[in-house]
Amino acid sequence: CGVFGIVGVADAANFVALGLHALQHRGQEAGGIVSHDADEGFNSVRRFGYVRDNFTSQSLMQTLPGPIAIGHVRYSTAGSKAAVIRDVQPFFGEFSMGGAAIAHNGNITNANALRRELIERGSIFQSSSDSECIIHLMARSLQRNIPERMEDALRRVEGAFSIVAMTRTKMIGVRDPLGVRPLVLGKVADGWVLSSETCALDIIGAEHVRDIEPGEMVVISEKDGVESTFPFRPRKSRFCIFEHVYFSRPDSVIGGRSVYETRRQIGVELAKEAPVEADLVCPVPDSGTPAAIGFSQESGIPYAMGIIRNQYMGRTFIEPTEQIRNMGVRLKLNVNRALIKGKRVILVDDSVVRGTTSRKIKDMILDAGAAEVHFRIASPPTRWPCFYGVDTPEREKLLAATMTEDEMCEHLGVDSLRFISLNGLYRAAGAPDGRDTDSPQYCDACFSGEYPVAPSDMIEKGFET
Ligand code: 5GP
Ligand code: SF4
Ligand code: MG
Repeated sequence: CGVFGIVGVADAANFVALGLHALQHRGQEAGGIVSHDADEGFNSVRRFGYVRDNFTSQSLMQTLPGPIAIGHVRYSTAGSKAAVIRDVQPFFGEFSMGGAAIAHNGNITNANALRRELIERGSIFQSSSDSECIIHLMARSLQRNIPERMEDALRRVEGAFSIVAMTRTKMIGVRDPLGVRPLVLGKVADGWVLSSETCALDIIGAEHVRDIEPGEMVVISEKDGVESTFPFRPRKSRFCIFEHVYFSRPDSVIGGRSVYETRRQIGVELAKEAPVEADLVCPVPDSGTPAAIGFSQESGIPYAMGIIRNQYMGRTFIEPTEQIRNMGVRLKLNVNRALIKGKRVILVDDSVVRGTTSRKIKDMILDAGAAEVHFRIASPPTRWPCFYGVDTPEREKLLAATMTEDEMCEHLGVDSLRFISLNGLYRAAGAPDGRDTDSPQYCDACFSGEYPVAPSDMIEKGFET
């Protein structure tokens, strides 16, 4: 998911709509905005579909007045897969000291246990979303102000959270102690901005002030500016390495590192680790593009657009059902036949999850007359599900959980298939000595199976790490 908020500008909701549009890649299922105005109080609009289709009409945006607003774009990981508007954020709660809205990116790993406990004690849940627990925990806190209630609530929450919240006058930003999901602070004119990624600061001309630190909470108001605290027990940070590989936009900067540069370096590393003679290096667009550029630069094999993407399709993986996902690949990508015919082609993609995409692409490329097809993948084999906010299928459906690399190569029917090593990925992501095995610098659980936060709800259901 993507979260964005701004305080201290006229018509704050318009900025939020722009910010969410720049974060659309983080969630395309639905979006919502909450604003507050001194005369009109809180207002909210939550809709299915793209930001550009919902939050561009003037008449609608006029229903979201005020100098403070937050928003969310949704990508369903927890909660029901069937689209229900009740699950669309931001969520809102009315407390004795006033209302608060929250937008959450990440996944709470003890949400089932918390929900059970809260329901037993009388909470009435409105949605199936894990994030709603935070509102109910806040309602039960005895603290006298909303930021302190939020601290109380979040101390009981396990897992990944980057949160943007608001009261009538204050915007609150928090990152979990491991800092699994990103969150950055920006400034535009007299306004302060919180955003999942810097690309959404660029769209409104805001300056990137700094990243919110893992375990940090900031409370921001027009009057007092930014107040920072660290309410949780400090831990070594474990940012999601897959944000660098796939999830974030390449024009974002995370932890001082350009996402594009990391992806290009992955390509460089791949070309060193798994060279192969060929005529062309082609990305599987768009997610494989920077790595393909790096692979071409390092290997000297020309870069070419062998696969063309229809710009008007969404991200296939995010469509909820497998059937639609299967259709999606055909609708979205097509082979550049004239270029491919008779060529030995290296295809670079970011990841192999179920293997559906790779298989379809291989079929299309061979059908177009390619002489050889070599897959190079910009992440290690995805062997484990993510429980921290990226939607991966259960283990049995992960190709790499059931097959060796050779078996996958055969299954996909390609001439060769190679994945970047975990160490190569770490080097590309700015760790020159690779992965620190005693204390890894990133979360890489979907590749290594080492979960930095025990997924307790899943373990309860019988999941074994
Ligand atoms: P597959 O077809 O192997 O199941 O999925 C791999 C493809 O899905 C890649 O091309 C990748 O770009 C795309 N993808 C989209 N969303 C995600 C996601 O959340 N996780 C992963 N691993 N891949 C995703
Ligand atoms: Fe990111 Fe993978 Fe960790 Fe999930 S399991 S947070 S996708 S690195
Ligand atoms: Mg892709």
